[in-house]
Amino acid sequence: MAMKVDAAFLAEQKRLLEERKSQLLRELKMDGVQQLHGDNEYDAKFPDFGEKEDENAAEVAAYEGNLSMEKNLEVSLFNVNKALKKIEEGNYGICEKCGTMISPERLRAFPSATACMDCKKKFM
Ligand SMILES: [Zn+2]
Repeated sequence: MAMKVDAAFLAEQKRLLEERKSQLLRELKMDGVQQLHGDNEYDAKFPDFGEKEDENAAEVAAYEGNLSMEKNLEVSLFNVNKALKKIEEGNYGICEKCGTMISPERLRAFPSATACMDCKKKFM
């Protein structure tokens, strides 16, 4: 399924995500919880969630179940990194639940969104 998203829009989303990422990294550092030295080490902390999108969502949901404040930051960072990866892979902005395009308005407000508004309502 190849749905093309406007390149300028993607570039802007990437910028927003990278901004958010630096902000999250700063917040995590300030908490003194841990030092993060780049993506590889960070990724190593998370088990491989598998290739199936549904598994990913389930794992993240499981994570979010018993999370402290710092863990929330880590999950946000995880989601931001995931969104950045999706931009690279060319499947950014596609709802993980139903496969439709997430509205640009929603993505602008929440660049790391992985589900469309309808699915978000259904699953929250
Ligand atoms: Zn959806």
